[in-house]
Amino acid sequence: MNESKASIARALLRKGWNVLGGPPTEWDGVAVKDDVIVVVDVDSHSPVARRAGKGVSYPAIETYGKCSDCNGCGQVTETLQSIIVEVDDEEFLLQEGKEVGDICMTCKGGGYTWESRRKIVAEPWPMFKPNPGRTKWHLERDGEIFASGGGLARHRDVVRKIDNALQGDS
Ligand SMILES: [Zn+2]
Repeated sequence: MNESKASIARALLRKGWNVLGGPPTEWDGVAVKDDVIVVVDVDSHSPVARRAGKGVSYPAIETYGKCSDCNGCGQVTETLQSIIVEVDDEEFLLQEGKEVGDICMTCKGGGYTWESRRKIVAEPWPMFKPNPGRTKWHLERDGEIFASGGGLARHRDVVRKIDNALQGDS
């Protein structure tokens, strides 16, 4: 991760941009403000380019909490009938019957259990283009690139050019 890119992300955050994909030090290079998208250091081979128009799901997170099967009481709260299916004269138990008051098998009666949840970012990533040619950053609106530039090393210049382009554009 280059330091200039992180500095650009911090500057954009201060200016009210929605910086997508992690903290500034791990910024993926896409930020949104109103109907404008800024794309920084994302070439067409970058995996980030493939996120355009998609939601992003993060890896499952394990959390310790109230057992959702028994709502934390450690006992079965609803009677469940056994379900047995017969296939080719063989019986298979699909669901084991439970009676109210039996020990909850999910949390072994403890009422708390590890559960994994998937955190999903509800907002999809907007459609955006990778940086074309030799450019290292660009601004786009409705799929049209209206400002772009080459180097990122002088991050203050990049941020200033982004500001100027936004002002000149509106
Ligand atoms: Zn339970």
